[in-house]
Amino acid sequence: MMDQIFSYLKKNILIIGIVFSLGAFTGYKVLESIGVAALIANIPIPEGSIADKDVFIKNLPEGKILEPKELVSVDRKAKNIILLIADGMSISQVSSYRLIKGGPNERLAVDKFPISGIVLTHSEDAVVTDSASSATAYSTGFKTNNGALGLDKDLNVLENLTEKIHTYGYVSSLISTSEITHATPAAFASHVDLRWKTDEISKQMIDSDVMTILGGGRHFFLPEDMGGKRDDGLNLYEQVESTQTLLTHKDQLNDESLTSSKKVIGLFADEHIRDIEKPDNHPSEPSTKDMLDFAIKRSESFMEGGCKGSFIMVEGSQVDWAGHSNNIDYLVREMQDFEEAVQMAKSYAEQDNETLVIVTADHETGGLLIEPLKPTQYTAPEVKFSFNTGIGYGSHTGVPVPIYAYGPGSENFTGTMDNTDVYRAMLAALDLNVETGSCVGD
Ligand SMILES: [Zn+2]
Repeated sequence: MMDQIFSYLKKNILIIGIVFSLGAFTGYKVLESIGVAALIANIPIPEGSIADKDVFIKNLPEGKILEPKELVSVDRKAKNIILLIADGMSISQVSSYRLIKGGPNERLAVDKFPISGIVLTHSEDAVVTDSASSATAYSTGFKTNNGALGLDKDLNVLENLTEKIHTYGYVSSLISTSEITHATPAAFASHVDLRWKTDEISKQMIDSDVMTILGGGRHFFLPEDMGGKRDDGLNLYEQVESTQTLLTHKDQLNDESLTSSKKVIGLFADEHIRDIEKPDNHPSEPSTKDMLDFAIKRSESFMEGGCKGSFIMVEGSQVDWAGHSNNIDYLVREMQDFEEAVQMAKSYAEQDNETLVIVTADHETGGLLIEPLKPTQYTAPEVKFSFNTGIGYGSHTGVPVPIYAYGPGSENFTGTMDNTDVYRAMLAALDLNVETGSCVGD
């Protein structure tokens, strides 16, 4: 009997060996996976606030001089530029909006731009820029200190883009959803040492070469005794109404006769257009797209009248405020309003074939993160969005921002750029060979 068993085992030793090894291996794997799962499930997730997070303070190396990026020569020049700046928008804001709008496979207007790059945003005196310094880099090609508009770090006046191209026969427009005296639009039409000097900014803006100015900010054009917030007692409404066209209701943007009127100042809100507490536009307030549509029509009318081309700067101002106030729903609403304007600019450029559209931001705001629901749970259907610079009121960050470009002259808006390079790339896209003088009759 025993002999028979031994003989059987001997004949089948190989098969038995394989079966035994497979069994042992499978058993080990099952135990291992149970063990790992148990380990993961038992990882302690510490409870804490943002103040408890680990931080690393570093002194940064100094002394390197910023080298301008080498630009390629532009084959086909652009007739028009539409520059759209979403204040406070980096990749996290674009990605969060994309996910919440339509899930991971959603594609936004900017996702369909053929050219994209990265913009570094530091200011002259800080790694983390404010809107004034970054907008000055875009409007003049120079770094300046945080807070300054259209001036260099020694407070010398810098010629800005709208002033420069004015002498070459281009007509300019500025649009924002904040008060129009806010840092981003103000950098394209004023020169002041501190962005808070709204009395000076509003005065300089209506005296500037910019022919169309649309946004909020009535308070900064009227003295206190007329319900405004000017400290100097001036009534700029009087000045505007004597030489320019003042708009205060969005319906006026449909008035075709205004497309050719000399200079238009549209002030559609006392301060900003809608806000966190006022989610919907007031009936008199236009969307960003409404204002862009009007500015495009105005630009076309000026070009029919002899202007060589146009520049329009559109600011999605409140993307930044959503970051400051740590509010993702506010962010989505502002990104949507901004995206509608981006889509309109892109559609216009596709059909016009002579317009360069650039979409970028001045800095990131809020340290927005997109995380799994729990560190141990990647497969949950929910995604966690959080702001990480301060609870209740966050700050800007030094994270670079994306840039997207479409149209003639777009070839330079790629790779890593400094924000000052963006100014130079915009000039390189335009035909600035012959100084023709103003096309709008100063
Ligand atoms: Zn900003």
